[in-house]
Amino acid sequence: MRIGHGYDVHRFAEPDGEPKMIALGGVEVPSDRAIIAHSDGDVMIHALCDALLGAAGLGDIGHHFPDTDPAYKGISSRKLLTEVIEKIAENGYVLGNADLTLVAEKPKVARYIESMRQQLAADMGTEITQINVKATTTEGLGFEGRGEGIAAHAVVLLLPGQEKLI
Ligand code: MG
Repeated sequence: MRIGHGYDVHRFAEPDGEPKMIALGGVEVPSDRAIIAHSDGDVMIHALCDALLGAAGLGDIGHHFPDTDPAYKGISSRKLLTEVIEKIAENGYVLGNADLTLVAEKPKVARYIESMRQQLAADMGTEITQINVKATTTEGLGFEGRGEGIAAHAVVLLLPGQEKLI
């Protein structure tokens, strides 16, 4: 068994009065602020990818998908996640379980958590019971509390899977 942790932060743009949709956990969630990012800025998937890569000893998301590469500009983080899962499988592992925590004052995501679990499980080819998603605030403290940015943590356990292919 191999354990991995991931952490990611993205900055919010200043609100411009227009409602936005932001990507969180593979789901579009309404927000009064856009996220500034090279990709679609899905902090939850980025933390999850880092946890998966970390558990497999494969470095981090920036190594595999550099933000200096125009190929990844605006890319759906779900695409990155499926590529990471392929790399994990090629190295002989499958997901045991993943536990994600979103840290944000806003948007409130309680009603989207089951959709996130479904979407992440579908993209990873796992059962929904292998994915847990939760969200917390920081009681108004720090950059998340001031609404300047949004953060996510992920912890995963990998299990021995198919034979190593490469
Ligand atoms: Mg990121």
